[in-house]
Amino acid sequence: PSITRGVTVEIPKVSWEDIGGLRDLKKKLQQVVEWPIKHSDAFSRLGVTPVRGVLLHGPPGCSKTTLAKAAAHAAQASFFSLSGAELYSMYVGESEALLRDTFRRARLAAPSIIFFDEADVVAAKRGGSSSSNITVGERLLSTLLTEMDGLEQAKGILVLAATNRPHAIDAALMRPGRFDLVLYVPPPDLEARYEILRVHTRNMKVGDDIDLRRIAEDTELFTGAELEGLCREAGIVALRENISASVVCNRHFQTVKESLKPALTKEEVN
Ligand code: ATP
Repeated sequence: PSITRGVTVEIPKVSWEDIGGLRDLKKKLQQVVEWPIKHSDAFSRLGVTPVRGVLLHGPPGCSKTTLAKAAAHAAQASFFSLSGAELYSMYVGESEALLRDTFRRARLAAPSIIFFDEADVVAAKRGGSSSSNITVGERLLSTLLTEMDGLEQAKGILVLAATNRPHAIDAALMRPGRFDLVLYVPPPDLEARYEILRVHTRNMKVGDDIDLRRIAEDTELFTGAELEGLCREAGIVALRENISASVVCNRHFQTVKESLKPALTKEEVN
């Protein structure tokens, strides 16, 4: 990937199959992100206006970024990734220039997806305080709104944003033609945990004694990121035990699982 300060560009390699669970959400994203890019003629023929922006919200580590990347991969779109926190930390004027430049480059490289991680930092509600930090946010938000309105004419460019704090996002971004669609990305349920474990053990040599269903049952409240970590750590435990080990066994998974405590709580999930 090519990197200019604060922005990474590539066509991601992650595909829908690399994401466990979330079947309906993946289907929705196929329709609103992948189709308009891949079949833009069909949309024009029927006079259907594609969605310009999608806001993904939900707890950390539950695949918001991965979903955005998979959508870009499926559409074979250039993926421009910006971090809200990083934009916020730049010098006065620098972050607005970077935002504008990213939209310009995305238009040149179309089809493109522009992804904002920690979008609430850039798109925080306006008004209230007189602190200078708010002003940074306000300037960024107004640049973002201008750029999104400018997409009206552009074909094959979509903005995806992710946040853990959807309520902090300014309502102006929810107007038609901006973030038309807001999707909740939930923590994985039992079936999704099983699928995530399968994804992350796919390339591992695991022993016959491994029962992924059982592990899925025992990992309530684990996020996708934590399940991925569990698989990786189990491999490391196996190697620590015996550097010439040929498989990762159930007991290695158990050892790691017992040492982990999920970050999510029941209250957050329900
Ligand atoms: P954050 O809010 O912290 O940015 P996020 O919701 O964007 O988190 P990701 O960065 O997409 O989460 O996921 C973190 C890691 O967890 C990824 O490396 C991904 O492989 C793994 N992961 C999360 N959810 C799933 C899933 N459903 N299937 C497979 N892997 C997953």
